[in-house]
Amino acid sequence: MDDERCKRKGCTGTIEDGYCDVCVIAELKAEMVAAQKFNEISGNNIAIVYGVFSSGKLWIFLKLEQKTVNIDLEKYAITQ
Ligand SMILES: [Zn+2]
Repeated sequence: MDDERCKRKGCTGTIEDGYCDVCVIAELKAEMVAAQKFNEISGNNIAIVYGVFSSGKLWIFLKLEQKTVNIDLEKYAITQ
């Protein structure tokens, strides 16, 4: 099966399980940064924010560390 390209302009991602691997991560990252800011405003000193995306077969796990903004990406294509 050939890789399907993302149709979003300027995106180099590929479509996996109906989702672009690049766009999904960008959206998830934005949500996590927003959550981190909300925690700061709320006075919650939560060091690490986790984000998970799943479309069924495709799983993406992100870890956002406060201040350093480190992001760990792991992607699993679960095949049965
Ligand atoms: Zn994309």
